[in-house]
Amino acid sequence: MRKRKIRRRPLIADLCTLMFAGPSRLPGQLVIQITNHCNGSCPQCGMRREAEIERVKLPAETVRKALRDCAENGVEAVSFTGGEPFINIPEIISLLDYAGNLNIPYLRSGTNGYMFSSGGKAAGLDKLIRFVESLVKSPLRNFWISMDSADTATHERLRGLPGVIDGISKALPVFHARGLYPAVNLGINRCIAGAMIPPLGEAGSEDEEAFLENFRRGFGAFFTKAVDMGFTMANVCYPMSFESADLGTEKPAYGAISDDIMVRFSRRELRLVFRALLETIPAFRKSLRIFTPLSTLYALSRENSRDLLFPCLGGICYFYMDSRDGHIYPCGYRGDEDMGASVAERRTAPGGQDPAGLRPYCKKCHWECFMDPSQLFGILRYMIRHPCKTWFGKALDRRMLRLWFADVKYYLACGLFDGRKPPD
Ligand code: SF4
Ligand code: SF4
Repeated sequence: MRKRKIRRRPLIADLCTLMFAGPSRLPGQLVIQITNHCNGSCPQCGMRREAEIERVKLPAETVRKALRDCAENGVEAVSFTGGEPFINIPEIISLLDYAGNLNIPYLRSGTNGYMFSSGGKAAGLDKLIRFVESLVKSPLRNFWISMDSADTATHERLRGLPGVIDGISKALPVFHARGLYPAVNLGINRCIAGAMIPPLGEAGSEDEEAFLENFRRGFGAFFTKAVDMGFTMANVCYPMSFESADLGTEKPAYGAISDDIMVRFSRRELRLVFRALLETIPAFRKSLRIFTPLSTLYALSRENSRDLLFPCLGGICYFYMDSRDGHIYPCGYRGDEDMGASVAERRTAPGGQDPAGLRPYCKKCHWECFMDPSQLFGILRYMIRHPCKTWFGKALDRRMLRLWFADVKYYLACGLFDGRKPPD
């Protein structure tokens, strides 16, 4: 069973865009929060099933209109997120089909995995096969399954989904046999290895070393567990907390952003967490296709990270659509900047920079959906447009540049993380 072939514009067109056009002409991305309903109980998330919030879902016609806008305005990547995006499976499958018929090439979505377990145990094989086959027939390119901890009991307790880890392990061979390779999606948190990693005290390099080591071990244990379960691909979500972002007076739009201690890190802690990840990933790059770029982690782990980071493309060519009003925002964080009901206006604005003059150089947070591609494209664009400064003026940090080349080589070796291709 194979997904249908979607036409994509040629790579040379993207390279010309990088060289000559403004950033808003780069291939766009829209993250659509189709619902804030969820059946998980993650304490670090404002959309957990116990949260007393107004529950909404976007009407299917609103999503279809957004998809038509995307197709007409060069938005090539669409992610469906939630809440739990697969809470209504037939509806999301029909939206994916609709997007595929519009020729949108990069379609992504994911789940907390609730459908893989039932009554505290792994779901039956028939149920798993039915779900997997419905996904395989759709044009979905990348499918992620969230996991918070290397420790099964901790993960299932946090999510409130007993039996889910067994269910995922049972489902993975069913996916692989049909040509879809799900990625494990780790949202960085303090329970990554089980027991909560305590916050870093005020002082002391000894403390720092212990904190760093705890996260190195945690990431190592997590990736080992992912390989043991049968995953072949992985992605890491950077902490989504208020403290991880310079939000000022803004209210985040995205309900997953939280101030829970599990995902709240000081700047000093964050630098160490990113360093631990930077030091752990290389050992696992052969056994898992790990999307997270080392060049970005290096930048984030440095004291002068702001100088090393390139402007985020949120609100310029990457956008977020909120389930509460069906409106577009620059991202999940900048909830005060309602950009209306369509990506079309912003994508076609003259000059394409940021017509309202609203922070075209935002570096306020680490939302990986926007930060990782912004940084990868930012470095490439800089090199193409300023070759002399790059090579002779040494305008780019040399280690970051070396890691960037290693990332590109790795991305190519991984077939650009096509979730329809087996690992090589
Ligand atoms: S993190 Fe995901 S699964 Fe957990 S409560 Fe939030 S939306 Fe639901
Ligand atoms: S850095 Fe990007 S994702 Fe973060 S607040 Fe700014 S525009 Fe939004």
